[in-house]
Amino acid sequence: MRQVSQAASCGAKTRSGAPCKSAPVTGRRRCRMHGGADGSGASKGPKNGNYKHGRYTAEVAATRRWLREATHMLCELKKPT
Ligand SMILES: [Zn+2]
Repeated sequence: MRQVSQAASCGAKTRSGAPCKSAPVTGRRRCRMHGGADGSGASKGPKNGNYKHGRYTAEVAATRRWLREATHMLCELKKPT
């Protein structure tokens, strides 16, 4: 997980080996020379391969519900009538 806090400087390694001292573009972590320019970088949403659709969490919730119901049924069977 990357740090969310905004860096005071770009920090990208320059050709001289020293970190870049330019201020990052607003809302970005790098200056416009190092990938902070408009239109650069990955897009948000389904176009991005890292996009989270939430389907997995929905499946987990469904499995948990089913498990609870199954456990409840077993308890009912164990009860003396
Ligand atoms: Zn930079």
